[in-house]
Amino acid sequence: MTISNYDYSTEFRNAIRTAIQPWVEWKHIAMGKTHCPTCLKLDKCWFVKANMPQLPQHEYCHCTAVPISTQTVQQQATADSKYSKFDPFLFDTNGKYNHGKEVIFHSAGYPVADSLWLKEEVERQGLEKYKAGEYILNKLDHDGQRVNIVVKIPRKDREGELSFTTGWVAYPNGHIQLATPYGDK
Ligand SMILES: [Zn+2]
Ligand SMILES: [Zn+2]
Repeated sequence: MTISNYDYSTEFRNAIRTAIQPWVEWKHIAMGKTHCPTCLKLDKCWFVKANMPQLPQHEYCHCTAVPISTQTVQQQATADSKYSKFDPFLFDTNGKYNHGKEVIFHSAGYPVADSLWLKEEVERQGLEKYKAGEYILNKLDHDGQRVNIVVKIPRKDREGELSFTTGWVAYPNGHIQLATPYGDK
């Protein structure tokens, strides 16, 4: 059998794509006295080159994006979430939010007691997908670059999975922090 006849599985091809896709680190460069708050928030953040914020951001933006090794990204990227994003926020345990998001989780068999598991699972999948470049750039402003990541968990009430979009903020050195565990889009 020659290598060209080898039947590469989708997973294997995805793994190769993940391993070779180039990453960049945003570098904020201020010329003169102007410090743009939006570009400052992007400084030192890591993105897949094919999935990065627009560069230049605006007229007189002198920012650049420098290559960063995929190995560094795979080894050093981190994701975290506050427990409070799940309890009390997602499950609305104090009845303050009235967003109704807890209903979807309850109906899939997840009570508030699963908050810690959910937090850790969302962090795990969030980091995995971020490192695979499987994030969607969302809003960008002086509060930073928001990215959306789809998370899937098994349903406990029946066969199938519950899929939902989590919202994150990108921080320097490949860190992402959960902003919302269940976004609108
Ligand atoms: Zn700027
Ligand atoms: Zn800039």
